[in-house]
Amino acid sequence: MPNYKQRRDKLRRLVRETNADAILVTSYDNVTYLTGFTGDSSYLLLTRDGQIILSDKRYTTQLENECPNIDLDIRGPESTMLECVAKLVRKTKLGSLAIEAGNVTLEFFQKLEEKLAKVDLVATGGLVEQLREIKDKDELTEIREAIGIAERAFAVVKAGLRPEQTEKQVCDEIERQVRLFGGACTAFWPIVGVGPNGALPHYRPGEVKVEESFMVLVDWGAKAKLYMSDLTRIIVTGKAPAKLERVYNIVLKAQKKAIEAIRPGAIMEDIDAAARKVITDAGFGKQFGHSLGHGFGLQIHEQPRLAVNQKRPLQTGMVVTVEPGIYLPGAFGVRIEDDILVTSDGHEVLSNVPKEYADCVI
Ligand code: ZN
Ligand code: ZN
Repeated sequence: MPNYKQRRDKLRRLVRETNADAILVTSYDNVTYLTGFTGDSSYLLLTRDGQIILSDKRYTTQLENECPNIDLDIRGPESTMLECVAKLVRKTKLGSLAIEAGNVTLEFFQKLEEKLAKVDLVATGGLVEQLREIKDKDELTEIREAIGIAERAFAVVKAGLRPEQTEKQVCDEIERQVRLFGGACTAFWPIVGVGPNGALPHYRPGEVKVEESFMVLVDWGAKAKLYMSDLTRIIVTGKAPAKLERVYNIVLKAQKKAIEAIRPGAIMEDIDAAARKVITDAGFGKQFGHSLGHGFGLQIHEQPRLAVNQKRPLQTGMVVTVEPGIYLPGAFGVRIEDDILVTSDGHEVLSNVPKEYADCVI
């Protein structure tokens, strides 16, 4: 079982640096990370020596099962979350309270300010997210599981791919296989782009059939229980122009260069630059219009980011995607995405779907 107490103690240290007496954790993923509670509509008030979850009666039993060591403040239908928070903060006699500025509405913040005139509300950004950047043993176990599920699902879908299948049908089949292999669901709506649709990085699968082009781009992931994976491969389904293999090998070389550069202390933007240089040198710089990669875990996009202007060093325990691409509008797109763990002596590529050009041809 994850060490939730240790996570909360780490957060307490970060909160103390903001000079607040306590923090109100309103992001549901952050509440899960800090307590193990997997439901929603619940906040965590973390004080210097206590932790209380504010929730409603629907969740009483689940809360008692999932986090028996945490105090509960359960409200009935006559009261709102805002009133409950205000009441509890007054009762706890807090002088100042850190708020997750990225997770509450301006309306909530203003109303809370009105109700708690004597309490200093401190807007904080990304304190829990900062902790979530570094994955612990339990998180890595589930991330590996999420990758394994995604890989097995893809192998089945690829082997069973038929010319008359539409993008939407392939997408649905990935969802089905992910669940059959034990995943909760896919990590996001898979991108399945036939031919020119592969050149649209966030394309939504439609009615185009596999047989209408020579390739399909698939970007998919699985959610194991709570943690996710994120992968991209192309499948060459027909007679492709020679340019596809040439472009593919440039993207692959860029991806390998970037992965090679991953180790603790390496600067995030330098990893992006390593891949970008290969693609730019080959003359396709303008066709690689997004950043190289991102962290993932409870959410599919988390900190850190492998992108221009990210000047922080990578640290052991971070997991990131590395996903360079070249997109040729009206023709095709190539992206190759793998999941990488930063280890104490370098990195480990967690995903294992074969990726030489020949491996993509069916
Ligand atoms: Zn992806
Ligand atoms: Zn991604």
